[in-house]
Amino acid sequence: MKLYNTLGRKVEEFIPYNKKEVTMYTCGPTVYHYAHIGNLRTYIFEDILEKTLHYIGYSVKRAMNITDVGHLTSDADTGEDKMVKGAIREHKTVWEIADFYTEAFKRDTEKLNIKWPEIVSKATDHIDDYIQMIQVLLDRDIAYPAGGNIYFDVSKVSDYYELSGKNAEDLMVGVRDDVEEDIHKRNPADFGLWFTSSKFDDQAMKWDSPWGVGYPGWHIECSCISMAYLGEHLDIHCGGVDNIFPHHTNEIAQSEALLNHQWCKYWCHGEHLNDSTGKMSKSKGEFLTVSLLEEKGFHPLSYRYFCLKSHYRNQLVFSYESLKQAENEYKKLLQRVAKVKETRFGEKDIDAFKKYQDRFKEALENDLNTSSALTVLYDVLKDDINHETKYALIESFDQVLSLDLLLTEKKEIDAQFEAWILEKIEERKQAKVNKDFARADEIREELKEKNVLIKDTREGTIYEIV
Ligand code: AMP
Ligand code: ZN
Repeated sequence: MKLYNTLGRKVEEFIPYNKKEVTMYTCGPTVYHYAHIGNLRTYIFEDILEKTLHYIGYSVKRAMNITDVGHLTSDADTGEDKMVKGAIREHKTVWEIADFYTEAFKRDTEKLNIKWPEIVSKATDHIDDYIQMIQVLLDRDIAYPAGGNIYFDVSKVSDYYELSGKNAEDLMVGVRDDVEEDIHKRNPADFGLWFTSSKFDDQAMKWDSPWGVGYPGWHIECSCISMAYLGEHLDIHCGGVDNIFPHHTNEIAQSEALLNHQWCKYWCHGEHLNDSTGKMSKSKGEFLTVSLLEEKGFHPLSYRYFCLKSHYRNQLVFSYESLKQAENEYKKLLQRVAKVKETRFGEKDIDAFKKYQDRFKEALENDLNTSSALTVLYDVLKDDINHETKYALIESFDQVLSLDLLLTEKKEIDAQFEAWILEKIEERKQAKVNKDFARADEIREELKEKNVLIKDTREGTIYEIV
């Protein structure tokens, strides 16, 4: 298996520390709001990675954190706490916010056939681990107290910038806009391990520590949760590219300062999903969630298919137009699979099965080339091998692709689409009754965007899919 390793910036042969079991850690969601489909693109890539490892014969132990501790937008004692912001917005406690959005995230992953990792752990369940780790770093003079907080001294690490491949100057330019320096820090890049509540009377989540009541920094949770479940030698650590600096850079610095040896060998990062205006975010533009796609009449697995068509290391631009195109392809694919299902005959051709399975594996083993893997699936459908063999191959490939190829029928998606159209027509009727003509026009446009033209007649509204 070949994987692109951000550490070293090249495609490398993957050799796990323990050949029997691969350990894999993925940074989990910050649960102060719904996940947007960009976040979910990263979880789809990680899901494909885990399933590929299984497919080629590895057993995988995977852990993921849930960031339920509020974090500030900066390392100084200023900025916004996202969890508190969520709680104020929704008149809930921060704990309720965390539970609510963890469940929402889980539902989204289910809709997209993203396997829930074997180990999922909340950041708030590991406070003692953080305190222990920070104490060791303090004892070794790698961490230091300043201004009421505990910081990690990056000057004690010789290769602090290795993962990002950048220098201090470049990185500080990138983050300068949001980082307000704490004047007590020894170096501008030093990051917080523990913040005390000395300057935060309203901090909702806080715990006692040897350094005062407070809360942990963001980076420490992933190091500790990973080590708690996956040990001192981690094979693969994943996240989106925005995690490279500072999050993963800091995870490496503190973990290796603790362990005195390399912690994780392979760092894999998924490129972003962007919208037409640039990077997708939870606070800017249309907040694209799985539920919104459903409200617009899309099947969630069409989005999974849309992601699999491109390589995880390429930026992907989202538009409804391209999603619609992907959905049409996905529906056609289901239609072709249905034909195979209806006409299964003959005996499985072992040689043909192996030939295609090898090609499929080869595509995925080549740094998770999912679009080539889909091409192999299309080649199977085109081939004149018997349908029993085709069926077995589709079933096998879907263990990784997870597109419900043998479960979902095109007609189910069509039925869902028709139900959506009727719902929209009803909503428009109500809008007109309420004299909300702007909303009625909006609905007409929404339908038009999905190639549904409506016409009001004496018998009611009729529609045509063009
Ligand atoms: P967060 O909930 O903000 O901590 O992000 C969860 C995951 O989504 C992290 O692995 C991020 O790197 C990733 N991520 C954030 N924005 C995007 C995006 N636009 N496209 C793909 N992944 C993203
Ligand atoms: Zn993390």
